[in-house]
Amino acid sequence: MPELTKRQKRIRLKKAGWTNAANSMGEFWTNPASPGVGLPLSMAWLHYNLMKKDQELKEAVKNKTAKVICNKCGADMAALEGDTHMGYYGLVNAKVSGGYCSTALSDAFIYRFSLCEKCLKAIFDSCTIPVEYEPYM
Ligand SMILES: [Zn+2]
Repeated sequence: MPELTKRQKRIRLKKAGWTNAANSMGEFWTNPASPGVGLPLSMAWLHYNLMKKDQELKEAVKNKTAKVICNKCGADMAALEGDTHMGYYGLVNAKVSGGYCSTALSDAFIYRFSLCEKCLKAIFDSCTIPVEYEPYM
């Protein structure tokens, strides 16, 4: 699929409800879901596509049609055969960003990942401070 032109990207952002407070400094696109500092077109387009991808994955997970793969081990996270309640086992499409001025994760990026139950258990078991858990009903 060919890359869209800047004009086409602007049209799609506007259709999705984004607003542009352009001035002599450039374009400042704002996402309706998280108003704040405006983004240049390239960053707004990237953010728009990630939001769209997230929404598509959320729908697919809800409908249990998504193929969710663990980022750590590559396992398919689909529920075991016969389990009609859960769609997937583990942490599905989790997101995390670094705190302000973070040096470990950086405060300018959002990380998206999924971890299967086996990998979560291995992480829990490797913790210096034991992870708390409790029964639920
Ligand atoms: Zn895994």
